Amino acid sequence: MGSPGSAVETPRREASGPGQIPGYLRLNGPVPLFHAPRLAEQAREVRGHLARGSEAMSGIIGVEGPVLSALLVAGEDWDGAPREIERPYPPGLPYFTRSVEPPALVLPEALAPVFRPRTGALLPLTIWHELAHAFLLDGEVVRTPGWMGELVPQAASAAVARRVGLPLGEHLGRVEPAPGFTVRGFAGLAGAEEQMRFQNLLLLFAVAVLEEFGQGFLGRIFRALWDEGDVVDGARAEELLAGALGPGGREWLRSRPEF
Ligand SMILES: [Zn+2]
Repeated sequence: MGSPGSAVETPRREASGPGQIPGYLRLNGPVPLFHAPRLAEQAREVRGHLARGSEAMSGIIGVEGPVLSALLVAGEDWDGAPREIERPYPPGLPYFTRSVEPPALVLPEALAPVFRPRTGALLPLTIWHELAHAFLLDGEVVRTPGWMGELVPQAASAAVARRVGLPLGEHLGRVEPAPGFTVRGFAGLAGAEEQMRFQNLLLLFAVAVLEEFGQGFLGRIFRALWDEGDVVDGARAEELLAGALGPGGREWLRSRPEF
């Protein structure tokens, strides 16, 4: 608090805290949300997703959530949002940043068109995905293959949906098939369209895992990743996932063509 320039804020407005955008308003909650004044209505919806998501995720993983804040950023302010890198991220792309204290989820006022399918579940799932990155990075995490680093947030996000009773049927039913893609083919370096298809494949796969094994594997995979001291290669990642799934995990993974 008390960054230079915040002294002339009107009392109604939150003084700009670390990494917050001047003039943004604060909504309290388990994850305090700062938003552009004109996005007040949307901010209340986002606050609800953050509150439900952080509570559910703590319960699922069995840890207290990290201390975080969130920003709902108007398009015209996007270039001023906190981030690690010098250049702004492409507009419409949510991300998690540790460039500010506490770390922040940065959410655009509108998701980029590449985010699909456009159902009512898309926004909460996307917010919970970023929240899961924040939970995971609250511990020490070594390098893992790209598929593992994104499968875990997709699975946590889907598990939150189950726990809070958000139906995913329509959303999953509208995912476009991705022939030729496999979970382990995700390297994280694809273009935006390919990234989305991979993310949706990971989501479908995560839902299948949850149906087969329940949500208990999530706490185990989070802990397994926190406990690893060395870079996790593909074989080790598969071993960790199979171990977290428990009895029959390895055989089940082998039986899945999309894996
Ligand atoms: Zn991600």
